[in-house]
Amino acid sequence: MNGVKEVVVVALGGNAFQSKGDKGTVEEYWRNAYTSAEFIARLIGEGYGVVVTHGNGPQVGIIAEWMMAGLKEKNLPPMSLDIAGAMSQGWLGYLLQQALYNKLMEKNLMGKVVKGVVTIVTQTLVDKNDPAFKDPTKYIGPWYEKEEAEKLAKEFGWVFKPDPRGGYRRVVASPDPVRQIEIDAIRRLVDDGFVVIADGGGGIPVYFDDNGKLRGVEAVIDKDLGAERMAAAVGADILLILTDVEKVYLNHGKPDAKPIDQMTASEALKYYKEGHFKPGSMGPKVLAGVRFVQNGGKLAIIAHLSQAYEAIKGNAGTRIVPG
Ligand code: ADP
Ligand code: MG
Repeated sequence: MNGVKEVVVVALGGNAFQSKGDKGTVEEYWRNAYTSAEFIARLIGEGYGVVVTHGNGPQVGIIAEWMMAGLKEKNLPPMSLDIAGAMSQGWLGYLLQQALYNKLMEKNLMGKVVKGVVTIVTQTLVDKNDPAFKDPTKYIGPWYEKEEAEKLAKEFGWVFKPDPRGGYRRVVASPDPVRQIEIDAIRRLVDDGFVVIADGGGGIPVYFDDNGKLRGVEAVIDKDLGAERMAAAVGADILLILTDVEKVYLNHGKPDAKPIDQMTASEALKYYKEGHFKPGSMGPKVLAGVRFVQNGGKLAIIAHLSQAYEAIKGNAGTRIVPG
């Protein structure tokens, strides 16, 4: 990007919008969006180029609940999961877009350092032969009694599995992201000095059908793996994954848990294979960090959202470096 010292892709976790103890009110969403916007504007003020992405797990769950209530009370058919993903990109993108605009104005950076803030509804290509489609593992939406789950399965072709915490829940596949369909537009906007918010929720999963046409698919992409694809494609220097733990741990949750300050990609992969990072939470973050530095990135950082600034300065979080 023109004149910036380094490009950072910031991946915001679930706690960036709904933190522990929040009810999920509009006020809370705005308050949380401004917390992230303050940090991002500060980075921009220091001369970094920034691309933002975010998770959407809790929000897609909420959209699914709304749809179910609509179905029960008003007989309104639920939308498909790709449409729910697009809704969540608009919802969260709007919050960040407005909060960032206001913060950049406040800091006198808008129009001087950046040209604007824009959210891109992003479709992310997946392989329709990805083995993940044969074994859907990702739980989404509300919990149901067995009978109701069977009824919904029949009516909408959904797959349900018993949830370890009780009841039945819809499960969908979580295929690996290949690339963002809108990546050229994203790259151009970044290069031209816009702050881009893109690939929300890992991107809307799409594939090319037998006629070469794009189609949405009922799946969810992991946002950290999606963030890596985008970071590599825009030639970012740093992938900063912000979550709700201060560091990545070995033996997480056990008495001998040990925080990691820095690891090389090969050390990280070794720990990954030994099972130190749980699938669906820390696993994809570490894998995204490893892939990023293997694909030419300089540094991946996993840190707590509240320590984002310290982390970029090298004083917090866990760093994954090439090697
Ligand atoms: P996000 O919304 O930020 O993606 P996740 O819940 O997916 O958040 O991932 C963060 C969680 O990963 C932490 O809250 C922690 O409980 C869990 N976790 C699993 N394994 C580890 C580990 N080895 N070190 C640190 N946290 C871990
Ligand atoms: Mg996650």
